[in-house]
Amino acid sequence: MDFSLTEEQQMIRKMCREFADERIAPRAEEMDRTGEYAYDIIARMGELGMMGIPFPEEYGGSGGDWVSMHLCIEEISRVDLALGAMLDVTTSVVAQELYVFGTEEQKKRWLVPMARGLEIGAFGLTEPEAGSDAGATRTTAVPDGDQWVINGTKQFITNIGLDNASIIIITARCKRENGKDVINTFIVPKGTPGFTLGKKYDKMGWMSSATNEVVFEDCRIPRDYLLGEEGRGLSQHLAVLDTGRISIGAVSVGLAQACFEAALRYSRERRQFGRPIYNFQAVSFKIADMAMHIELARNMYLKAAWLKDQGLPHILESAYAKLFASEMAERVASDALQIHGGYGYMNEYPVSRYYKGAKLLQIVEGTSEIQRLVIARNI
Ligand SMILES: Cc1cc2nc3c(=O)[nH]c(=O)nc-3n(C[C@H](O)[C@H](O)[C@H](O)COP(=O)(O)OP(=O)(O)OC[C@H]3O[C@@H](n4cnc5c(N)ncnc54)[C@H](O)[C@@H]3O)c2cc1C
Repeated sequence: MDFSLTEEQQMIRKMCREFADERIAPRAEEMDRTGEYAYDIIARMGELGMMGIPFPEEYGGSGGDWVSMHLCIEEISRVDLALGAMLDVTTSVVAQELYVFGTEEQKKRWLVPMARGLEIGAFGLTEPEAGSDAGATRTTAVPDGDQWVINGTKQFITNIGLDNASIIIITARCKRENGKDVINTFIVPKGTPGFTLGKKYDKMGWMSSATNEVVFEDCRIPRDYLLGEEGRGLSQHLAVLDTGRISIGAVSVGLAQACFEAALRYSRERRQFGRPIYNFQAVSFKIADMAMHIELARNMYLKAAWLKDQGLPHILESAYAKLFASEMAERVASDALQIHGGYGYMNEYPVSRYYKGAKLLQIVEGTSEIQRLVIARNI
């Protein structure tokens, strides 16, 4: 068994870490406070190839692997959760869905610019009445001549509110000629008449991540914007979410690493009772637990990504990675804030931002409860 990273994987991690520290970290606090979308940073991430790491060069990627992609997601999330989530949705979910299920024409048209970072993508599964129960989708797609007519609402959609988002991949219910209901997946380009952005949500954290409602009213798309096999839309979408879960694992590890570094630094500087608070076992044991749990979570997401690269089953490992890492990140963020005492509660210290951001990781791409369901069904 070989746990070492290849030279290429180490190089990608180093490049992402340096970029994150030099270009993103100095602006992360302000972006989160003002809700600024960092278009210039996203453009540079694209130029550096971050969105296309796991795709072949002919589709705009760099021919790397999913381990490298997730190392990149961890490093970016260590300084900015919103950009980590943007990478997850664009590459791990949307671009991958195009790559695995798209026709050659769909790949050329939408995957190539996405892998190059010129455009980003969004996916729309969640609806007002269909959250964890994703199969309960009420959005409909009805064939009409050489078009589909889409009606419905998707909610809590990441990325679509950004100016450089090109498409949303959605699930919608369709009726077969025999009257049977099936769920299909469709590509809907932004700007299609009948496709409007609804409200922008007012969130408690992740302020520089765009989250919008999306409304379809008699929205017409060509028949060949169906993505993948007719009738297999939901299972296709859930299959790519297995990778999304590895990515949320990596985002969680990145956030927890930032919390750990802040807590370690602060506990060595802050003095009470005549000594650094790190010298109190109650504090240093918290930090020891953080270091251990972060390493365990990192090993888990890397194992899941490695299995994916080998073409081996990884449903269970993806769920372990997402569940363990997201719950770990919330605990670590809470402990890091506790170690900062009253200062930790002040917005000028990044741990307060980390703490607000950590909770969401247990909700997106399948809640903790749904991960336990997946695990229970697969063991
Ligand atoms: C900021 C943000 C960004 C998001 N981005 C996207 C996006 O880009 N695209 C997208 O499609 N969705 C997105 N989501 C939606 C997210 O995936 C859903 O919120 C999540 O899947 C939960 O669905 P829900 O909110 O409807 O909660 P519900 O499904 O109503 O769940 C409520 C509670 O009940 C529990 N529960 C539900 N069913 C069960 C069960 N069978 N057993 C045990 N417990 C259960 C849940 O775990 C949860 O605790 C985003 C959400 C947020 C907040």
